[in-house]
Amino acid sequence: MKLKKIISVILLVSFFSPAHSALNIFTCEPEWSALASQLGGEKVTVFSATTGLQDPHHIQARPSLIAHIRNADLIICTGADLEIGWLPLLLRRSSNSKIQPGQLGNFVATEYVRLLGKPKLIDRSQGDVHAAGNPHIQTNPKNILLVAKALHKRLLQIDSQNSDHYNRLFNFFEQRWKKALKHWKKMTKPLRHLEVVVHHDSWVYLRDYLKLKQVATLEQKPGIPPTSGHLNQLLNTIRTNPVKVIFHAAYQPDKASIWLSNRTQIPAIVLPFTVGGTEQANDLFNLYEDTFNRLLKAIQL
Ligand SMILES: [Zn+2]
Repeated sequence: MKLKKIISVILLVSFFSPAHSALNIFTCEPEWSALASQLGGEKVTVFSATTGLQDPHHIQARPSLIAHIRNADLIICTGADLEIGWLPLLLRRSSNSKIQPGQLGNFVATEYVRLLGKPKLIDRSQGDVHAAGNPHIQTNPKNILLVAKALHKRLLQIDSQNSDHYNRLFNFFEQRWKKALKHWKKMTKPLRHLEVVVHHDSWVYLRDYLKLKQVATLEQKPGIPPTSGHLNQLLNTIRTNPVKVIFHAAYQPDKASIWLSNRTQIPAIVLPFTVGGTEQANDLFNLYEDTFNRLLKAIQL
């Protein structure tokens, strides 16, 4: 065969190969991209609207995001109003009927997890209140498995011809995750009931997992930057309620944490919060490994 002919055969084969029929998945946050990659493998192409260094509550509905969501077969978002400031606009502008709310192509992670932190009284004057319950479910590794089970089922529904492939990847992931949960349970023993101060109330699920005692938040009202008055009050709170560590998510400013740390000698650390939040948290497994490592290191100081 002549070289030209060989090349054209290769091109033809690759054009019709299943790689080109991969599902286009658009996720709102990087933890769901990481999960979709684990469960979809080479049958999916994954795009995340945000990185671990961006605040998922507030991003711009940029034209490049609209272009991505327009071609999506499936979107995976946290829900519980986390993306209320930008996702509805993207969905409207997408002209994509497959991914609208209620469709198979619209997967909402918080629907598969018991939500914590539902306010009894919804008062918007109290800041950026999450009325549906706290959406930051990825801070508890047990939630990942619940979402993984539901997402696996959804992939089977959307792309049934590749069910063997998805079943294989899910079984592999489930096995690894269960093993990791056992390992983290042991690893986090010294962190149980730890007294902490956090920046934003983003850690209710981590708190539940480790039975942390959250003494205070640096934000007096959620979503509203810490005020100096509130921080000064915190100095008094900490005097009577000892705190072992102050932490914030990688995307949050560290100024308030450092201010408080300097005055109290309590270590202030950054936690990845999601995949990509730190260099070490480069996949879902390492997200928790790094989170717990950083906390363990902080309490040894
Ligand atoms: Zn929040």
